[in-house]
Amino acid sequence: MMKKIPSIDLGRCTECKGCIEIAPTVFCYNVSTGLMEVIEQDEYPEDIVDEAIKDCPEDCISWEECSWTIVK
Ligand code: SF4
Repeated sequence: MMKKIPSIDLGRCTECKGCIEIAPTVFCYNVSTGLMEVIEQDEYPEDIVDEAIKDCPEDCISWEECSWTIVK
């Protein structure tokens, strides 16, 4: 099964936090590392993440596809 996960290119991210304003349930700022993070969840709101991708001034958010298995 393929899962789409938002990914941030931290080398280009300027921590402007614009993506948090658009998608506060998806992106957060880690005060310990000083870096942006994607909040882990089973499913991501595609429309909102797409909007954050579109509005990121550094163009550093993208979707990543990965295969995953549910372990019970
Ligand atoms: S909008 Fe882009 S540059 Fe700004 S904090 Fe989010 S990922 Fe980084």
